[in-house]
Amino acid sequence: MSTGYLYEPLPDVADGLRLHLNENSDGCAPAVLNALRRLTRHQVAWYPAYEAATNAVARYFDVPADTVLLTNGLDEGILTLALAAFPRSEGEASAVVVEPAYGMYGPSAALAGARVVPAHPHADLSFSLDAVRSALAPDTRLVMLSNPNNPAGHVIADEVILELTKAAGPDTLVFVDEAYADFAGISSIGSLAAAPNLVIGRTFAKAYGLAGLRIGCLLAAAPIIRRLRGAIAPFSVNVFAATALVAALEERGHLAWYLRQVEAARSVFFRAFDQMGLPYWRSRANFVLVRVGDAPRVRARLAERNIHVRDRSTAPGCEGCIRVTAGLPDEAEACVRALEEVLCDEPR
Ligand SMILES: *Cc1c(COP(=O)(O)O)cnc(C)c1O
Repeated sequence: MSTGYLYEPLPDVADGLRLHLNENSDGCAPAVLNALRRLTRHQVAWYPAYEAATNAVARYFDVPADTVLLTNGLDEGILTLALAAFPRSEGEASAVVVEPAYGMYGPSAALAGARVVPAHPHADLSFSLDAVRSALAPDTRLVMLSNPNNPAGHVIADEVILELTKAAGPDTLVFVDEAYADFAGISSIGSLAAAPNLVIGRTFAKAYGLAGLRIGCLLAAAPIIRRLRGAIAPFSVNVFAATALVAALEERGHLAWYLRQVEAARSVFFRAFDQMGLPYWRSRANFVLVRVGDAPRVRARLAERNIHVRDRSTAPGCEGCIRVTAGLPDEAEACVRALEEVLCDEPR
């Protein structure tokens, strides 16, 4: 059976400046490695316990513990959500995927048996509530979007998210992927109590620097979390990830410092792109989408200089664009210098 969708993995990158996956370029907090070193041989031998990590997440986001589901990366959360939203529905129900979309949404919904209906953004790639409203149908069971969005980095106001949950109706789950919410200082977690069909996804891969450990979570009303548990393996999060998460959430200083670095790096890119006359989006996340012309060629030339960026030129509305991660300001400066060299001998 072909779903018509395939999530394409990127080739491994051995060394150089990794500005292609929006990772934390400083690394995890040192406290995380210390916590991992304290694990005993027995703890590694036992099936993992989740109470401590679940309670830590609940305290951190100020929500009840029965509204939290830990997942093996948010990617697993997305797949779990799709499986739970479309039980045994061979094309009889639909998922509305808000474009531009993260690469897992469509494939996961299609794999679960949903018809995938795209909802297109405004010309500047910002969110269009009207487009989502028109895409909603009586058989829509799931709406998937990300806030801030990827790859432009636009933010959707919380009131608009609430309006969308009402427009979708009680039988349709509205998934808001907040993978980059820390960088923007926004969240709809405070709306969970008012919106029983809202599901929020968070990852500790980006701002918290735990991408290699694979840890994320879904937050939703307790009845939805119980439904989601029926679609996920009971021990999908390993003991290292659960341990690291508790340590990372206790270490607020490192996160606050890193968020300031990202903001400074973003400004480096904004200023440089202004000077170079390159069109870009004023992202609130830890990446900037910029129109460089021949994006595949620019990506390849930067890779020759050991700077890895993402070619997003095939995404709708992103023609000629690359996406660069904003990590530390020095890295942004290095990327800008290399980009200037590359564009100098680039026919445009
Ligand atoms: C990175 C990313 C994810 C995946 O997070 P993991 O926890 O690494 O699986 C999900 N959604 C968006 C929008 C992302 O950018």
